[in-house]
Amino acid sequence: MGANNVKALKLLGASKRKPFFRFHNQETATVYDPPHLLKCTRNLFLKHDVQLKSEHVGTQLPVIAKWDHILKLYEIDKTRPFRLLYRLTDTHLNPTAQSSMNVRLAAQVMSHTVAASLNALVATGGWSSEYMATAAFVEEVDNLFDSFNGGTSVGRGKTLRCPLSDNSPHIELWKKASMGIKSWIFLKDGKPAFLHPPPSQNGWLIDITAAQHVWRTLKEAGFEYLHTQNLNQDPLENTFGAIRLNCGSNNNPTVGQFVNALKTSIISGLAFRGLGETNCEDDGATLLDNLQSLFRAPETASRYPSTSHDKETPAGMPESFHVTQQVHMDMSPAVPAGEMEVFSVAYVSGSIARQVLHGVSCDACKTCLTSEVLLSANVFIYFKECSDTEQSLTYPSEKLVETVGTAVTLMESIMTEAAHLNSVEQHITTAIKSTVDFEWIRCSGCSLHHQRIVDSIVRCLTRIYIPWWCKRRNRMMTEAARQRATERKMKILSHQ
Ligand SMILES: [Zn+2]
Repeated sequence: MGANNVKALKLLGASKRKPFFRFHNQETATVYDPPHLLKCTRNLFLKHDVQLKSEHVGTQLPVIAKWDHILKLYEIDKTRPFRLLYRLTDTHLNPTAQSSMNVRLAAQVMSHTVAASLNALVATGGWSSEYMATAAFVEEVDNLFDSFNGGTSVGRGKTLRCPLSDNSPHIELWKKASMGIKSWIFLKDGKPAFLHPPPSQNGWLIDITAAQHVWRTLKEAGFEYLHTQNLNQDPLENTFGAIRLNCGSNNNPTVGQFVNALKTSIISGLAFRGLGETNCEDDGATLLDNLQSLFRAPETASRYPSTSHDKETPAGMPESFHVTQQVHMDMSPAVPAGEMEVFSVAYVSGSIARQVLHGVSCDACKTCLTSEVLLSANVFIYFKECSDTEQSLTYPSEKLVETVGTAVTLMESIMTEAAHLNSVEQHITTAIKSTVDFEWIRCSGCSLHHQRIVDSIVRCLTRIYIPWWCKRRNRMMTEAARQRATERKMKILSHQ
């Protein structure tokens, strides 16, 4: 949203109401990069309270969302054995100049999980209803970003991440979101901070108008779907990123160097993509043509008579990369996930119940581990549910939540003495099995599969808890070391 770009678009004839221009009888829609809008909005929210109107706060009057609310939630949450906001780190809440450019950090703070945590705490009466305003704002921004990030990878329940079509929720969301965005007022000391809405606020409105315009045009041309993900500049940034890698970190290449680097990139098939650690999501794009067929054995080459338009894995992108990422994604919701204390224990319990019951058809097992009625401990899970109508998460039974809670308390107390031992998992497993009461599973649950269930629960517990404990420990030690280094420097300076 640089002033130069805004000016250029204006000169070309694009406006807020009509975000497109014609050149040589060809229409071009002008869209601001949604990931940048997300970062700008997060940056504004860091510095300013936001006054907004939302249908989700139970009042027609404007309410005020505050970054401090998220900060309070984070500070309490981060010391827990299991966490609601397991993805968040200090950097998320206090981004440095460098990390303020990272889209993922912004997306993880302005997220459904943060909104669900705040709503759950208000719903169970622990926290004042003021926090709902922050939840509503965070959710609104999360939905906006999702609606511009629709593509082929459909996350469970996240319907806005599906492609835009006449049946998708995008158009309906954008109608409501436009009203919401227009109501935003960034405050400083309780008064409006800006004379005009900041560029990123207009940017969202422009993007909504532009996307709707593009969609109308595409429909006339016979298109049934639009991957809204393709309306951002990730592919462009990915390409430039690839070129930069071939420039030897030269951030000011000459034309000749740039052309050579581009050629190298094409020849190696944008091979860097497997390395990860980029700021953009993999855009899923493959080169229309590449030179890999040159190196392929003849019989393989003949199976691909044309090298164009093949969906091939580019060299340097090992197949296993996707697999590891998948495993990581499957595991991560389990690691973290209550009041706050209870919520996180319940969330982890739900995830344990899901894992233990995976592929099990025994009704007695299901009845003893899951719950049909909404327990107060499960309110976070309820808000975390992405769809209002469809249930996709697992709700643990009260007994299971209790047992997991007891086991966590036990592990917290013995981990410091056991962490340095060989086969630590074995030690913890023995301790849990000999201390925690699992008889309820045999008595009121399933006598047939009793032992198998206990074994699975304990295995899930140790596998979730131990790595998380180590992570917490390491973070504490890093912080302590940093503290000591600062003190040392201060001492040296004050002696001079
Ligand atoms: Zn059973």
